[in-house]
Amino acid sequence: MSQEVLVLNSDYEPLNICNIRRAISLVFLGKVDVLHESQIPIHTVSATYTSPSVVRLRSHVRRPMPQIKLSRRSILARDNYTCQYCGHKSSDLTVDHIIPRRLGGGNTWDNLVACCKKCNTKKGDKTLAQLNYTLRQQPKKPKYVPFISLTKFMNGAKNEVWRDYLPIFADTSVKSEPGTTVTCERETVGTAAG
Ligand SMILES: [Zn+2]
Repeated sequence: MSQEVLVLNSDYEPLNICNIRRAISLVFLGKVDVLHESQIPIHTVSATYTSPSVVRLRSHVRRPMPQIKLSRRSILARDNYTCQYCGHKSSDLTVDHIIPRRLGGGNTWDNLVACCKKCNTKKGDKTLAQLNYTLRQQPKKPKYVPFISLTKFMNGAKNEVWRDYLPIFADTSVKSEPGTTVTCERETVGTAAG
């Protein structure tokens, strides 16, 4: 019973990842519709059920706009754990200042990128022009911020079925309105919390 279930808001926005027990109770309470079932059946004393993998809330939960902190973790997630200089994908990356600190480069979303150790050593205190390096993409502050914790979100994106429901974290095309006043109804989300 350690399976996890992706919970979507009524507008398909990913809200939570909960355990199977919670998801099944939400199904029985009529609070969610099952969008995808997993291949793993659940056996109870009296019956066997197919277990949900993705569920959607029937009533909309309004949620506050999450804020994202600039951190090593959020930079690596934004860059999808890919070195922005050579394209090497790894979970063991560091964060590099594009304009070195020595030259006044700051700790900002547009000056920090995921970087492999090899490129990091090579780059040192040099500029991109000196090394003839180009960036894979222009670093920006992500516009879309998952409501689910970043770690859970990135792990969830590895699930083929869930991926379709998880917007790309670094997507700059997703519109979010900062400062929009929304009522916080976390207690409703709480029922879906694992
Ligand atoms: Zn690299």
